[in-house]
Amino acid sequence: MVKTPSKTYCFSLEDHPRSIELFNHTKDLFNNTIEFYFNVIEQHQEILKLRSQDALRALEKLSAKTKKNPNPEHNVSSVCPSIPVLFRRAAINKALGASRSFHTHLHKWNERKAKAESVHKKFTEKPPVPPRKWNFSPVFYKKLYKNFDGTSIILRLWTGKSWAWVKFSCKGQETPAQWDVLSPSLVKRKHRLFLHFPLQKPKEDFVWPEKIVEQIKNPELKICSVDLNINDDLAVCVIQKANGAVEATKFILGGSYLQHRRKRLLGIIATKRSKTRAAGQKGISDNVALWDKIRNIDEQEAHRVSRRIVDFALAHGATVIVFEHLGNYRPKKNKGSAKSNEKRAFWLRGKIFHYTKYKAFEHSVVTARISPKNTSRQCNLCREDVFRFGKEMDPNNPYTPGAPNFFCPNCQNRGSNDRMAAINVGRKFFRKWLEKPGKKFSGTEVSHAG
Ligand SMILES: [Zn+2]
Repeated sequence: MVKTPSKTYCFSLEDHPRSIELFNHTKDLFNNTIEFYFNVIEQHQEILKLRSQDALRALEKLSAKTKKNPNPEHNVSSVCPSIPVLFRRAAINKALGASRSFHTHLHKWNERKAKAESVHKKFTEKPPVPPRKWNFSPVFYKKLYKNFDGTSIILRLWTGKSWAWVKFSCKGQETPAQWDVLSPSLVKRKHRLFLHFPLQKPKEDFVWPEKIVEQIKNPELKICSVDLNINDDLAVCVIQKANGAVEATKFILGGSYLQHRRKRLLGIIATKRSKTRAAGQKGISDNVALWDKIRNIDEQEAHRVSRRIVDFALAHGATVIVFEHLGNYRPKKNKGSAKSNEKRAFWLRGKIFHYTKYKAFEHSVVTARISPKNTSRQCNLCREDVFRFGKEMDPNNPYTPGAPNFFCPNCQNRGSNDRMAAINVGRKFFRKWLEKPGKKFSGTEVSHAG
């Protein structure tokens, strides 16, 4: 099922003297309840064939003692004598999800096994096992929280003995209007508590993007093609039409500065490591904060770059954003922190792609990918192999991989190699979709899924 765009809003809860203790009790109870229901479903697997609402009802009938149902087959009171109905339902839904996922994996494993055995092949893959540890964040359905006004909230928490209403001040951005706010979950990160509210765009407020197969029929279709790099040009974006007209170009810089900041932090980590090693210690936990910092820098950059790509596409009325498939990371000669830096630069491209996809979908813009073959090697006008060079062109060494400039010996076209690559990504997209209409290309994403 394809869903409308969603995102998460995060609120931090103020430090409350007993908050972590209460959180732990509530989370343990939530996960124990999930485990209980997971086991009940294992004994009544026919439940998995039911629709969610019916499955929920069937499980309640099997487990919850009421006047009409005085002797349920399994009694959830064995987990805890008093569980609020909605807490139980949240746990049941998690258990159903976990069970469905487990049985899908098991089913696929059985299929692979049968297939291998049918051709007398040895099958050594281990079967999937049910989760041994449960680590879900407690979800607060309505009636498990109240009086939420953006600055404070009252949560129903388990103290280990009884249920209590606990008030917290909270801080976070204002939730945007026109989004449905779904049930929050309570999350602990580094001894602090956060409430994550999933937001979902209501169906009636969302214009579904047209599929590429349809969009391509419009000769006025504008696309934004993107070349992602690990040099200073983090992204080069080009707006173009099927007739080849390039309407605008944008360079999103910052790669060198990012590399520099990362390099500094990676250097500090390396020095610390060699010191602890020299002292015969094993622990490198003191580096956790530094790694967090590096991760944060990368996250921020991925958000910044993807935001700017989407803004650029929207400003020019492009309704498709095209990327290259990113391929796998192949390390160069670098070692140690230089290698680590290079690897992170590579990962960043994947992040930028994913964030762009989400942000674009919110604005009904679709994302597509094409094969990267020859995009930075062939002239965008005549498709002849180009020369690629740094400052000066050297006829003895016409192609320097990674060099910033190009020159086409056939049509004299010249300029930035990254910009040429971005144009080629778009040209390739049009060639694929216009020259072979109706064909579905493997790996080309037609629309955003889930
Ligand atoms: Zn050319």
